[in-house]
Amino acid sequence: LQLHGPNSLPQAHRRPAWLRFLLQFHNPLIYVLVVSGVVTFALADYVDSGVIFGVVVINAIIGFVQEGKAESALEAVRQMLAIYANVLRDGERCQVDASTLVPGDVVLLESGDKVPADLRLIKARNLGIEESALTGESVPVEKAIAPVAADAVIADRSCMAYSGTLVTAGHGQGIVVATGGQTEIGRIGSMVGELQTLSTPLTRRLDQLARQITAFILAIGLLTFLYGFFVAKLPALDIFLAVVGLAVAAIPEGLPAIVTIVLAIGTRAMARNRAIIRRLPAVETLGSVSVICTDKTGTLTRNEMTVVRLFMENREIAVSGGGYVPEGGFHEHDLPVDVAEDMEINRLARCALLCNDASIRHEADAWHVTGDPTEGALITLARKAGLDPVESSRLFPRVDEIPFDSERRFMATLHHDHEGHHFILLKGAPERVLELCTRQAGGRTLDHDYWLGCIHGAAAAGERVLALAQCELHGERMQIELHDIMPRFELLGLVGIIDPPREEAVSAIAECRRAGIEVKMITGDHAVTAAAIGSKLGLSASNVLTGEMIAGMDDAMLRQKLSETDVIARANPEHKLRLIAILQSEGQLVAMTGDGVNDAPALKAADIGVAMGGKGTDAAREASDIVLTDDNFATIERAVREGRIVFDNLKKSLLFLLPTDIGEGGVILLAIFAGLAMPVTAGQILWVNTVTAITLALALAFEPGERNVMDHPPRPSSEPIVTRMLALRILFVAMLMMAATFSIFEWELSRGSSIETARTAAVNMLVAGELIYLFNVRHFTTSAFTWETLTGNPVVLWVSAALIVFQLLFTYAAPMQELFLTQALDAASWLIIVTFAIVEFLAVEIEKAVWRGFKVVRM
Ligand code: ATP
Repeated sequence: LQLHGPNSLPQAHRRPAWLRFLLQFHNPLIYVLVVSGVVTFALADYVDSGVIFGVVVINAIIGFVQEGKAESALEAVRQMLAIYANVLRDGERCQVDASTLVPGDVVLLESGDKVPADLRLIKARNLGIEESALTGESVPVEKAIAPVAADAVIADRSCMAYSGTLVTAGHGQGIVVATGGQTEIGRIGSMVGELQTLSTPLTRRLDQLARQITAFILAIGLLTFLYGFFVAKLPALDIFLAVVGLAVAAIPEGLPAIVTIVLAIGTRAMARNRAIIRRLPAVETLGSVSVICTDKTGTLTRNEMTVVRLFMENREIAVSGGGYVPEGGFHEHDLPVDVAEDMEINRLARCALLCNDASIRHEADAWHVTGDPTEGALITLARKAGLDPVESSRLFPRVDEIPFDSERRFMATLHHDHEGHHFILLKGAPERVLELCTRQAGGRTLDHDYWLGCIHGAAAAGERVLALAQCELHGERMQIELHDIMPRFELLGLVGIIDPPREEAVSAIAECRRAGIEVKMITGDHAVTAAAIGSKLGLSASNVLTGEMIAGMDDAMLRQKLSETDVIARANPEHKLRLIAILQSEGQLVAMTGDGVNDAPALKAADIGVAMGGKGTDAAREASDIVLTDDNFATIERAVREGRIVFDNLKKSLLFLLPTDIGEGGVILLAIFAGLAMPVTAGQILWVNTVTAITLALALAFEPGERNVMDHPPRPSSEPIVTRMLALRILFVAMLMMAATFSIFEWELSRGSSIETARTAAVNMLVAGELIYLFNVRHFTTSAFTWETLTGNPVVLWVSAALIVFQLLFTYAAPMQELFLTQALDAASWLIIVTFAIVEFLAVEIEKAVWRGFKVVRM
């Protein structure tokens, strides 16, 4: 490792800091400000010019820092997804971080793996690798170990597996020949993943909204200038500064930054809850998910498998003991069975043990499985029957195998003993295995009805059933092929395995239901097992659909049947694709889970592809939008809740920013067109915007979410961002703010205060109005008369305190008075300001109550 360095590709370059800083100036508002700064300077108004340039720089610094924070939050989340490789070290198979591979390591590959380094293959069984990352060719190529010509081009080097490509079928082994930047993919200058950008469809829509508003404001500004100069005959500098004030006030320049921060905070919250966002747009889409299609095993169930009974010819045997602990016994009609003497159980257990790739080990006082938990359960069974894994594989070494595949639903292994007998062991889904059996143990012909009865009985109790069979071969065999698996096997028996549902899945499903989200369980398991587990989980499991039925139905029929059940059994990845298409054609927004290599197309086709971090393959993870680090259904439900909160918080940010911007702009417009004195100067408006941008506007990104976010149906993804209710609220609040600001300004003038004092009061009124409105806006329509309004979001309190300090400085500090032409206020002014603010607060609360009357819970 010291010699070759870590096996990782160079990180994608972030833009250099200076460029990111400069880009902060690339913003229409800043252009307006810079031009105004230059003009005021030319007109020798140095104070205003200084304030304007000061604000420009402060704005850039704020934007730079906020963007940097958001980016590093996303980067940190992305780095939680490390890649692992299976290697042989000291002769033992183990999993290591792929960055620690060095030339010479032996890497094991199986379908679904991402090749972690450039490998010279030394074993390949039906090994298919998709090399589009390197060659652009998306059809998998078949690999073998035979050497190729020295001058073969990359696409023809069939004895090599290249870093970054995906194993789509079979398995193999290879020796690492190049790592990191030395790999083929490293040499073409590839970087780690794609660079996460901060842009999503929603941010682009909001950017566009902000640009439209900006253009509109600039047009109004121009008209106002013309009116002020030619009609109202105001001095050029005055009207110019007023228009600058208008632009600054009304352009929602803070919006893009807030959106980014809300998304970044949402992403971090999801990562803390074990859902890792791979593609940022998923954060905002999650909230609108209307159907979740989920796997069963491991996601809804615990994936802690235990064999609880065996069926053999006219015998049913109960197996005691729980989990993977190899302690427990066998009982028939409640009497203990002496396994050592029982040849039938012995043969069944031996098949279970040998046709198996998992292992169990005792570690830290508990038994753990490596590999497939279903197979782990079978090993535990064999050990309960007194078999020893090491001893058995020495007596009956494995020569070849056909690995389990969820489409074939069986696994077969070829063994021999030391007397020269060769035999195939087979285990798999019972109906598949029964098709391949001609006899049952003891040599009698297969009694189909008896076995089907057993399968049905066990499945109805929610057990996963596997059948085990064996077939003797004549003569020496070193390989098995698919065509060897034909109807000639002897059925050894059936095993019934339980896998209890996760408790949290039951409540998560109920929660989804309440939130108007349908849950469909799509499983490879038997229909009856699936129905039994489905109803335990609270799904509607009466008319279970199976893969076979789906294949025979047209779309209309399938749509109908799909609406009648939540359980789909014996389904293949291609059925998943079809279900997604049907659901999407109904306008549903579909989240789909997947773990196998064949699930990748479905994960891509779904609106939200959810991969399993634990048992999922690299292929599934690469195709997904979200990775669940705990493989748990409840995590999806939490991510959806978080997605809804993110969307709500974006809306609340709009609900806060737009009325305050319109209110500030309206004050200036009204003054000009009504021929009144300006209640606030351009410099003061800049001040208000800057202090509220670094305080109040950020607070809503930290909102913990409404208590009832999961009590109503998902937002339709077609819903406009600014809904009618939102627009009404915005106008209402803008009017309130304008009225309050004008009233206090006129009141001050009427009682003989100077224009400076009246303006100081007006600015403080604006800020106080915004501050108190922040407490209204924390909830769309829920009443703010609760403790929670004060305690629910500590950030709100912090920024409020900071803002009050800023305003006191603005009002009383001598340098500020100089710069912004402010004056100290007396108690009477403050009393009126606070009273008006409270009236504003109450008015919004009354408006909320009206909405509640119409049963509106969000805007
Ligand atoms: P889900 O889609 O809910 O996660 P699953 O992926 O566990 O279910 P599969 O793994 O496709 O479903 O299993 C389908 C069937 O194949 C099982 O019902 C079982 O009968 C059989 N089976 C599962 N694992 C193995 C295995 N390792 N060897 C042989 N047969 C298996």
